[in-house]
Amino acid sequence: MSLGIYIQVPFCQTKCTYCNFHTGVVSPARFAPYAAAVQTEMREHRRRLPSSGVVLPGSFSSLNVDTVYFGGGTPSLLDPAHVAAVLNTIRDTFATALSEVTLEADPETVDQGKSEAWVASGINRISFGVQSFSDAELKAAGRMHRRADVYRAVPMLRAAGIANLSFDLIAGLPHQAHQGWQNSLDELIHLEPEHVSIYLLEVDEGSRLGSELLRGGTKYSAAAVPSDDQMAEFYETARVELRRAGYEQYEISNFAKPGFASRHNRKYWRREPYLGFGAGAHSFSGSQRWANAHDSASYVQAVARGRTPVEQLEEISADQALDEELFLGLRQLEGIDLAQLERSYGTALESRFAPLQAAGLIELSGSRARLASQHLSISNEAFVRLMGQPTLE
Ligand code: SF4
Repeated sequence: MSLGIYIQVPFCQTKCTYCNFHTGVVSPARFAPYAAAVQTEMREHRRRLPSSGVVLPGSFSSLNVDTVYFGGGTPSLLDPAHVAAVLNTIRDTFATALSEVTLEADPETVDQGKSEAWVASGINRISFGVQSFSDAELKAAGRMHRRADVYRAVPMLRAAGIANLSFDLIAGLPHQAHQGWQNSLDELIHLEPEHVSIYLLEVDEGSRLGSELLRGGTKYSAAAVPSDDQMAEFYETARVELRRAGYEQYEISNFAKPGFASRHNRKYWRREPYLGFGAGAHSFSGSQRWANAHDSASYVQAVARGRTPVEQLEEISADQALDEELFLGLRQLEGIDLAQLERSYGTALESRFAPLQAAGLIELSGSRARLASQHLSISNEAFVRLMGQPTLE
C-alpha cells in the first residue's frame, strides 16, 4: 500500500461556461501566499488534523508517497518555483518514492521555460486540457486556448522530457457535430499522447451553461449543445477510434497506451488512501473522508491562523464502504470481484446484482462483475440501481 497526494490549485484565467468546479479568477499576487499556505498545511497536518476530528491511521507514517497530482483549476498558472517548493515540502514531510507526478496544464499557459522547470522539479506527467481541436467549440465554451496552442505546447513539453502526456477531450461542447468530434479524435491520435480522458459535458446548476440548459435558455450557445444521443454516439466513436489506435480503456472516462494508466487516479477507484492539500481538497484515510474549505481566501486565512482548513468530515460506515467499492470499482473496466467483496463485508450481493444482470447493465463472468460495455456511457443508471435508489429513468 502507498499514499497519494493531491494538491488543489483553484485558480483560472477565466471561467469556462461549462465549468462546475470551485475555481476563481484572482490576481496572480495571490498565488505565492496560496502556495505557502499549502506547504504550511502539509508540514503541520499531523499536528493540526486531530482538532477537526480526523484520525490519521498509524500506518500512514510508514507509507511511501508514490503519486502526486496537481489539479485545479489551472496549476500551470503558478510560477514553477511554487510547484517545485510544494514538491520539496512533500519530500521533506513524507517518505517518498515518487513514480507519477502529474500537473494539469492548459495549452495557452505552457512555454519552454515552464516545461523545463516542471521537469527539473520532478513533474513527469502532464494532464493537458485540450478539450477540443475546434476553435469554434473552444471559443463557445469560453476556453482561453485555441487549437494552435496545443500544437505549440506539445513539442515544448516533449523537448523538456515529458514522456507521459494525457489529453482531455469533452464530448458535448456547444457546436460540436459528428465531423468536428471525429476531427478532434483524429488530431489527438496524431499527436500520440500516452493517455486520454474523454469526459461527457455535465449539465447541472453548477455551471453557467448547465443552468442555462436546465432553464431552456440560449445564452452561452446552449441551443447548440448536442443531444444526449449525439453525446453517447461521440463517446462510442471515441472508444472505437482509441482502441484502434492502441489505447486500452481501463475506466469509464480513461484510456491509456500499455503501462500508462494513471496510478494516482486508480487510487480513487480502488479506495486507496490519499491526502489532499489546498482549498477544497479532499482526503481519504480508509475510514474517514474529509474536505477543506473551498474558498481560497478562507483557506489561506485558516492556515495562517494556525487552524486546520478542514470543513467537512465523514466517517465511512461498513455499508457506505461497500457502496463505494461497487460504485467506484465498477467505473474500472476490470470490474469487481463479488466473491471477494462478499467475504470482506460478510454480505451476499446476489440480490443486488441479479436484476442488473437481467436488465443487461452488468455482465458476470465467474465472480467478476463488469458494466456491460454497451452501457458504459449511461453507467449512471446502473450505479443508481446498484445503490438501491430509484432509477433516473
Ligand atoms: S480551466 Fe478548467 S477549472 Fe478553470 S474554469 Fe475552465 S474548466 Fe473550470
